[in-house]
Amino acid sequence: MKYYSTRSSQQRGCSFSSALLAGLAPDGGLYVPQKIPHFSSEELAAWPCNLSLSDLAIKIFPAWIGEKTLEDELTTLAPQIFNFETPLSFLNHNTAILELFHGPTAAFKDIGARFLAAVFATTAAPEKRVLVATSGDTGGAVAAAFHHYPAIEVVILYPEAKVSPMQEMQLTTWGKNVQAFCVRGDFDDCQRMVKELLLEPAYAGDFLSANSINLGRLLPQTLYYAQASLSYQQQQGRTAGVIVPTGNLGNGVAALWAKAMGFPIGEVVLATNSNQAIAQYFASAGKNWTPLPTITTLANAMDVGNPSNMERLLHLYREGGFKQLQTDVSTIVVNDQEILLTMKKSYEQWKQLFCPHTATALFAREVISQQRKHDDWIVVATAHPAKFKEIVEKVWPSSLLSLPLPSSLQSIIARPQAKKTIPATVSALKHYLPK
Ligand SMILES: *Cc1c(COP(=O)(O)O)cnc(C)c1O
Repeated sequence: MKYYSTRSSQQRGCSFSSALLAGLAPDGGLYVPQKIPHFSSEELAAWPCNLSLSDLAIKIFPAWIGEKTLEDELTTLAPQIFNFETPLSFLNHNTAILELFHGPTAAFKDIGARFLAAVFATTAAPEKRVLVATSGDTGGAVAAAFHHYPAIEVVILYPEAKVSPMQEMQLTTWGKNVQAFCVRGDFDDCQRMVKELLLEPAYAGDFLSANSINLGRLLPQTLYYAQASLSYQQQQGRTAGVIVPTGNLGNGVAALWAKAMGFPIGEVVLATNSNQAIAQYFASAGKNWTPLPTITTLANAMDVGNPSNMERLLHLYREGGFKQLQTDVSTIVVNDQEILLTMKKSYEQWKQLFCPHTATALFAREVISQQRKHDDWIVVATAHPAKFKEIVEKVWPSSLLSLPLPSSLQSIIARPQAKKTIPATVSALKHYLPK
């Protein structure tokens, strides 16, 4: 399999591992496969029920990878990488929650970060370091994943006072090969410092990118859509649509790649917070794609005004055009008030707490159930509510209910924090990163 940039198919394609190591294509585009592998419904029907993520990786990935060494490694690596559950839990006969928060940092970012770390550890030159700017969840997942590979140094930049206390602990309690820098600035400053450092001639080629546009983070996310859609179909005898809490659009594109591979997925609904660049594009019937300034909301991991993976979405529909896109995908915008209301109602109705991101998808399900004839939905739960305790407590004061921490988060709280606070300049950062 060859990989090409979304911006030009003229270039010579590159291999799967080169695409991962490069992160971004040389022309600034995102890597996409020359053709999405397809599994027929006959083939899928012959697969055993209840396949784990690791079983599915071993069945699906060889068609995406096409490199003998990496494919051989996969049999050993997959069970180590995908070592936690992504269960489907039914709220009622036609709504299931896909729980993606049982990994080490209690958000779905663990799945992509763990795969990327394992592939880097097998394919990258030993002197490489990993650099990542984070607004919250990504940095923690990357730190937790690379902590298992002490030979790879990880450098994380995060904005001071802009991440939740739990998120900060997930960035700063690893020690050893993981260094966290608390930057006196905002997320945009962190991203700028990363770019500036990568452009410094002295550091050229030193760093790998664990940024969310990396193909190695997107591909593993197709696995839980494959698993959940097969499982829903086996249990209910019907095909479900999926509702995805959406920010940078990585998770939404993963759902569409799984659908394109032939897994039984109906409509894909992208639920965003008040950052509505994607919704505006749909409202303009595909005529007007305009990134917008980022708005701060309660679902902070989705605060993205310029979703990078839009390029992959448009590339996927370059032949079918907006008409096909509109058949497969719809968008719903959910504001902060609706997020809080949904978090409150979910507990009243089902005795379940959801994080603010998941609440956008649950709200979308309410709206859409009134509009559609077919009505089977998998609602994607992207993070554990305990990661956003301060927001949960706005809805339900802690005196009214207890929010038990998953064991992964408990162990993080017990560890000492180590961070360096630096001004938002690349020279301050360079001081700590000897050549
Ligand atoms: C990153 C994140 C999202 C958004 O996912 P994208 O792939 O960026 O669309 C949603 N919810 C949570 C909890 C996240 O961490």
